Amino acid sequence: MKTAYKYRAYPSKEQKATLNRQMLLSKELYNLLLEKSKEYYRETGKTLTEYRMNVWITQTKKERPEFAELHSQVLQNVSKRISDAYRHFFRRCKAKKQGKNVKVGFPRYKNFVSSLTYPQTKGFRIEKKNAELSKIGSINFVNHRDIEGKTKTLTIKKTKSQEWYITIAVEKEDKPFISNNKPKAGIDLGISQYVALSDNTIHQNVKITKHQRNRSRLLQQNVSRKRKGSRNRKRAVIRFARYSEHIARIRQDCLHKLSCNLVHSYSFIAYEDLEIPNMVKNRRYAKSISECSWGNFTQMLQYKAESAGCAAVAVNPQYTTMTCSNCGNVQRMPISQRTFICEKCGMRKDRDINSSVNVLERATEGHSGSQACGDDVRPSARRAVAEEAGTIRVAS
Ligand SMILES: [Zn+2]
Repeated sequence: MKTAYKYRAYPSKEQKATLNRQMLLSKELYNLLLEKSKEYYRETGKTLTEYRMNVWITQTKKERPEFAELHSQVLQNVSKRISDAYRHFFRRCKAKKQGKNVKVGFPRYKNFVSSLTYPQTKGFRIEKKNAELSKIGSINFVNHRDIEGKTKTLTIKKTKSQEWYITIAVEKEDKPFISNNKPKAGIDLGISQYVALSDNTIHQNVKITKHQRNRSRLLQQNVSRKRKGSRNRKRAVIRFARYSEHIARIRQDCLHKLSCNLVHSYSFIAYEDLEIPNMVKNRRYAKSISECSWGNFTQMLQYKAESAGCAAVAVNPQYTTMTCSNCGNVQRMPISQRTFICEKCGMRKDRDINSSVNVLERATEGHSGSQACGDDVRPSARRAVAEEAGTIRVAS
């Protein structure tokens, strides 16, 4: 199992200068390599492999000795980043061909690079309170928790608010799965009712207060009022970034606590496999949906589940809101309608709870525990929807 540990780091003034310079150089290298690979494609019709990029890097170091200021593994990681960018690009192309609604977006030149990665343990050594990075020096960090497992890579990153963090990726041994024997649950993800569970519990979303929103807006306005390139603008940018990160941390904290709570309370959790990019297109809800970070949350469920003795399973979300969890009748559900009242059997249930019961049922239907995605929508439901052509996009 792969995990990562993140620590706040405090490089010295000189180290910060070195790090900034190295990031500048790796940005330059990134853009050079991207240009090179485009050229190569134009000439040969093939993509430049990571190996060839690395060969090219070694040659370039002779003409441009400043690149030797970086550790060789860090330089090679730049070519890995390029080939990753290409890989994602091709994946998006494929998805587009299959009719999925994605922007393809060719890899772009970078304006800045804000992190450096040591892909092999040769370049770094971790001690109790400091990390020894080759060609940078020994950087202090706050060791708030011990590392378990074998260290693989180290990344040092600067945030927009000029804070530094190191992330250490480790490989842990897989432990045998032992179920915690708690009940099963389906969850419906929503906006204000963040999580609705099939056993009738509801967890509200984090409340970002009006004061917090206003302050954030004010700080953003401060940035746009300052002259471009001025020192004051730089300061305002940092202030705004610091506040945004503060609010993001409030959200993250809440998601961590909630996901932890859920995986420890249930042995099986079914959630909807939402296509978020499609939903964000609905402009009325775009902001609140992306603020919810459902993708982030389900990821947390996934990685926390196993060690807590819980299985988390994604389920096709189609028609979960529109189907009656009692009799299977499919009907229209406008977003304003908060209660599901079945036209056939008369069942009354909270809209989200009804949906979460459907999610659980879909996951356990037939093959329990497996990835119960896809074709298990009732045929009658499909017909009814085709006839009625409902226009609900969000949470349906
Ligand atoms: Zn019904």
